Amino acid sequence: MGPESRHEKFVLWAIILGVALGIAAGALFGSKMQSIDWIGVLFLNALKMMIIPLIIAAVISGVGSLGDIRKLGKIGGSTVGYYATTTAVAVLIGLAVVNLMQPGDGIASNVNMAATSEILEKDPVTFTDIILTMVSPNLIAAASQMQLLPIIVFSLIFGAALTTIGENGRSVIIFFNGVNHAMMKLVNWIMYFAPIGIFALIASRLGETGGGQALLIEISGVGTYVITVILGLSCHFIFLLCVLKIITGRGLDYVIAMSRALITAFGTASSSATLPITMGCAQEAGVSERSTKFVLPLGATVNMDGTALYEAVAVMFIAQVYAIEMGFYEQTVIFVTATLAAIGAAGIPQAGLVTMIIVLSAVNLPLEGISLLLAVDWFLDRFRTAVNVAGDSVGAAIIDKFDSRPVTRTE
Ligand code: ASP
Repeated sequence: MGPESRHEKFVLWAIILGVALGIAAGALFGSKMQSIDWIGVLFLNALKMMIIPLIIAAVISGVGSLGDIRKLGKIGGSTVGYYATTTAVAVLIGLAVVNLMQPGDGIASNVNMAATSEILEKDPVTFTDIILTMVSPNLIAAASQMQLLPIIVFSLIFGAALTTIGENGRSVIIFFNGVNHAMMKLVNWIMYFAPIGIFALIASRLGETGGGQALLIEISGVGTYVITVILGLSCHFIFLLCVLKIITGRGLDYVIAMSRALITAFGTASSSATLPITMGCAQEAGVSERSTKFVLPLGATVNMDGTALYEAVAVMFIAQVYAIEMGFYEQTVIFVTATLAAIGAAGIPQAGLVTMIIVLSAVNLPLEGISLLLAVDWFLDRFRTAVNVAGDSVGAAIIDKFDSRPVTRTE
């Protein structure tokens, strides 16, 4: 075991300890733990601070390293193919599990409109909105609002342009390569702060709910629903591992290498905030820079297997509570809209709840049904975010395998 991997193992164990102590402290000391909320916020801010410069530098230097711009089509095609297939499988798993478990049976449909109105007041996302968000008229505004898709699209086109203008373009690519390496170094440093940051995030969030007993009471109200979501997410995680094994031959070693990212996703409930750590772990796990630079930034924004699965289960759960029959046609509509709604969801906490409005409207279910999910959503969000990050991580390894030509480095 080299000194680097000893370091990684140490950080991983420290993060696991952080999660365990965070759960224990939040459960035991309840709302008192909210006083350390700022430490979690500091960690989150440090991660978020990295996102925009890291994406710009990674995508531009990634496209620049392709050499021939036609290769962008090949790698782009396999990436989008992977995202679409795995997200569709996630929704199918969600539908299978929820039909099997029927978690909404026997639950009263008395809803709390006041709690839901905050979500319903947000502008509903439509399909044209998803397309329109790809190109922003003002990149600085997009960056300040953490809209990552227009930043990625611009960086892709900008990187492509650089490869066509000869010597001048090459020096700009070398510059962004240097920025990317420096950003990855910063990510490594921030990772040392992860154990304490994740401890504070979990303890204070659990404290906000009022401690372990309050959480158990909330969960027990919709216990079968919580079990259904976690069961579905676990099945999809196993599916991803099988695909990983079949295509790349890798298994547990890769999961262990990525686990710092998976636990950070659990701690932050944000795949965007986790992106810097996901990229760092994937590179340490031996995935080529080229794959991490393409697959992970785009994946953190559009590839959300966990969210897609969750939306399908949640919508079916609401239908079951209201005793509204969802036949083959309605479930097909749920399948299509949940896949698209997950693409439209931002990689931030509880974004899936907002895009779920698309799915509910498509099958004419009462939107206020969302209030049935509110109490436990923050908790389930962490599991689905971890699966979102797992989907991206497995994707990076698979695309790397498809595209296993040696990386043309510009430095
Ligand atoms: N929190 C999720 C993520 O960041 C999105 C969601 O499902 O709410 O990936």
